[in-house]
Amino acid sequence: MTIIASLLREAQLPESPTARLDIELLLAAALGKTRSYLRTWPERIVGTEAAQVFASYLERRRQGEPVAYILGQQGFWSLDLEVAPHTLIPRPETELLVELALQCLPAGQGRALDLGTGTGAIALALGRERSGWHMVAVDRVPEAVALAERNRARLGLANVSVRASHWFSALEGERFDLIVSNPPYICSEDPHLSAGDVRFEPSSALVSGRDGLDDIRHIIANAPSHLVSAGWLLLEHGYDQAPRVRELMAQQGFEQVESREDLGGHERVTLGRLPC
Ligand code: GLN
Repeated sequence: MTIIASLLREAQLPESPTARLDIELLLAAALGKTRSYLRTWPERIVGTEAAQVFASYLERRRQGEPVAYILGQQGFWSLDLEVAPHTLIPRPETELLVELALQCLPAGQGRALDLGTGTGAIALALGRERSGWHMVAVDRVPEAVALAERNRARLGLANVSVRASHWFSALEGERFDLIVSNPPYICSEDPHLSAGDVRFEPSSALVSGRDGLDDIRHIIANAPSHLVSAGWLLLEHGYDQAPRVRELMAQQGFEQVESREDLGGHERVTLGRLPC
């Protein structure tokens, strides 16, 4: 017979930088309980079935699989999102993009676009905060479109529509007040791609050509014909790409171009506005 406290004490994840948290999340999920349950009831007996599920979760994590993929979910903003291996796992850094977009979207009405929505994270967070706004969320990958739509439906956000589109390809003639994107921005040769959790994420969501800027260049070049006058463009990018992104936006006629730092002190989001 095993109790919660001894499973927590004995479980090891030597390679994970967040081992204790991972172990708690995996055990809580195997039991179908919350993490606070583990602390409140350390003497509870763990049934054989739950213990086996926990052991299989731990083994997957030992092989390097991210906790979010093992559990099939991840928190982002105020939302619990389903995640799957066809999409990036939403990152806390991306909440900066949501915060800045909210500053540009006055309460009221309008239309905003999230390019490469993945799980739907950004569009759904904005849709939740701005009920008067209509959010269009697009992705090129059919599995991502289906996943974002499941997240939308489960959250009951009727003001978000999820559509299939490779960047602007299915948005001919449509204009928005604001366009937001966390596109792939890693260089194809970046050594980080072969370490840690990103090994399990789809390279289509991470990699964008030799300098990591192929998709960002495409988005910036095409955004002006899909924005209203005085419309905003906000892009997440790599920690060292801000000067290039500012330059690209300025070349396309964006004004008020500036970059903002994430909690780690890296310039992570660049925004600009079309002239009136
Ligand atoms: N927009 C999604 C997110 O921020 C997916 C981003 C991506 O796949 N590059 O989580």
